[in-house]
Amino acid sequence: MILVGAKVQEVRRRAKYILIGLDNNWTVLIHLGMSGRLFIDKPSDAHELRKHQHFDFLLNDGTRIALVDPRRFGVVDAFPSSPEALPPFMKRLGIEPLGEEPLTPVAIKNLFEKTHSPIKNALLDQTKIVGLGNIYVCEALFRAGIHPQKTANTLSQTEYEHLSQIIPEILHEALAAGGSTLRDYVTVDGQKGSFQELHQVYGRAGDACPICAQKKHRALITKITQSGRSTFFCPQHQKSEH
Ligand SMILES: [Zn+2]
Repeated sequence: MILVGAKVQEVRRRAKYILIGLDNNWTVLIHLGMSGRLFIDKPSDAHELRKHQHFDFLLNDGTRIALVDPRRFGVVDAFPSSPEALPPFMKRLGIEPLGEEPLTPVAIKNLFEKTHSPIKNALLDQTKIVGLGNIYVCEALFRAGIHPQKTANTLSQTEYEHLSQIIPEILHEALAAGGSTLRDYVTVDGQKGSFQELHQVYGRAGDACPICAQKKHRALITKITQSGRSTFFCPQHQKSEH
């Protein structure tokens, strides 16, 4: 048993993975999947087994950390802590938009200058840039005024600049709001996120575009499907050059 008796040295995040570094040179990886949730039960709490509780850690002070995952898309794994031992999918992860290095227009351009897929799909590609889900990509392209079907390597310098500013901006706003609760997402202390109230385009098909409305133009948010995922955008100010 890798975990028994080991001391937790650090807890960090890489992409959508929670990584717990142990003093025995192993790292535990947790991915919450679509709707997994970690519960932290204090030693004094009743430690009843919850429905869909598939895994738990018991700490030496009696605290229990439990993974509840009704849809079973979550993952718990462990691997040696050396860089060579990283699982292949971890080695392939792209850049962190909120990493120590700021996201620059050059970094975005380097990612996409050889990418022939639509910018919407390219931004969702976790081997290029991590942590952006469907909602945040729709919101970023909307705010940047970039058509979601525009080929990634045809973006202008100005568009790369806009994205490098807007992506971290949106992620910071979403973090401050506790994320987006569409169905059942809650933070680790049980709070629902409120960023969904700030969505300007996601889930708003048929609504008037707020950016165009500011310029006294009338345009309606439109929904299309790209690679099986819904894309919401404004056909007026998110111009396509095709
Ligand atoms: Zn618009």
